Amino acid sequence: MKTIIEPFRIKVVEPIRMTTREQREKILKNAGYNLFKISSDDVLIDLLTDSGTAAMSDAQWAGIMSGDESYAGARSFYRFRDKVQEITGFKHIIPTHQGRAAERILFGLLSRPGTYIPSNTHFDTTRANIEFQGGSAVDLVIPEAKDTQSLHPFKGNMDIVRLENFIQGVGADHIPLCMLTITNNSGGGQPVSMENIRQTKNVCQKYGIPLFLDACRFAENAWFIKLREPEFEHSDCKTISREMFSYADGCTMSAKKDALVNIGGFLAINDDELAMQARNVLIVTEGFPTYGGLAGRDLEAIAQGLEEVLHEDYLAYRIRTVEYIGEKIDRDGVPFLKPTGGHALYLDAARFAPHIPLPQFPGQAIACELYLEGGIRSCEIGSIMFGKTDAKTGKHIAPPLELVRLAFPRRVYTQSHFDYVAEVITEVYRNRENLKGYRFTYETPYLRHFTAEFEPVPS
Ligand SMILES: *Cc1c(COP(=O)(O)O)cnc(C)c1O
Repeated sequence: MKTIIEPFRIKVVEPIRMTTREQREKILKNAGYNLFKISSDDVLIDLLTDSGTAAMSDAQWAGIMSGDESYAGARSFYRFRDKVQEITGFKHIIPTHQGRAAERILFGLLSRPGTYIPSNTHFDTTRANIEFQGGSAVDLVIPEAKDTQSLHPFKGNMDIVRLENFIQGVGADHIPLCMLTITNNSGGGQPVSMENIRQTKNVCQKYGIPLFLDACRFAENAWFIKLREPEFEHSDCKTISREMFSYADGCTMSAKKDALVNIGGFLAINDDELAMQARNVLIVTEGFPTYGGLAGRDLEAIAQGLEEVLHEDYLAYRIRTVEYIGEKIDRDGVPFLKPTGGHALYLDAARFAPHIPLPQFPGQAIACELYLEGGIRSCEIGSIMFGKTDAKTGKHIAPPLELVRLAFPRRVYTQSHFDYVAEVITEVYRNRENLKGYRFTYETPYLRHFTAEFEPVPS
């Protein structure tokens, strides 16, 4: 087997800045040990998120120049609509400025107090939009998802038995729709199998519940299906994608992921009545239905990106990159979530630094040290982001998993960047006994991870 190479060459470059450890110590301290508060100029390799961070192709940049900025009926809208329809098969395609705008429109129409919306795992913004309207967001992923060492090939799958029990328990009339997040972002970028999509569809159909896909990483999910589900070994990813969407009644999409652009999204719906209502909300809050919250040039870039993201040399390189880093750090015994997912590597912080108690945030300790050691920005996804303090006892309630996410921007970094990342992770792991916990010096009641400040706990 030959090396799987980056299937592109580089026409425009963006310098990144090296800093010394001494400089980084000052920068991190000034940021209150919160990586969200560091200027991106002070980051060497930025793995904070894969959202909106993709590099566009020459054809996408050409689309930016040829975008039609007409208010109504722009040529760029029709190109966008036709491409989305070609891949998803949905009837009504409604552009929005990003994924959560599509969610807000959908759940503004369907979520209300007394309703339940089950999913394998809701993404934070999806959950927030459901709950903001008074509904309940329910996660019913298979139990293997919570075991970071389980090698189940489709750890994003819906637990079909629990789904059916849940529907019978609360009653189908209280469930306006069911969702599947492909791939399961909050669960480690793990895919959902075609078999599981079909089974979810069957249960939904039995009870008359519409099924929607949160399709942000549909192409990565399609590639995993091709690799891991023998029935699809010889199918191309567009055909696989079409089949995935064929079981759904609609989808929400953040184009900042698998449409390879920096901004954009859409809502797609088959039902005429629901689509009409969604367009009415769109006009009030986003814009006229042929542009949503976007410029014509953005629609061009999305249409082109949706075509490119299904190229199999791209997907092979994309998924292999994450797997490659996983293999490297596995040789040094670094604990991480296995098997590696589509868009990110997740270090298992509880196993990585077991000497740091969860209320002192082992994930934060690792994320800070990755920055100090190598200028790498990652993201704690554990007790800071999802932990709570018990109002009565004051005790820390930890989430099921304590992770540090290194999310990979699409087409941005090369293999030597990733070799470097693996080296830094291994070095931090080798010196893990020196890692120290952190405590809050400033904390807000909501989404505290964005704005909080910390200090190292003295030993
Ligand atoms: C990013 C994301 C969203 C929200 O999309 P935005 O474009 O950030 O608003 C929704 N669901 C999943 C699974 C995502 O990854």
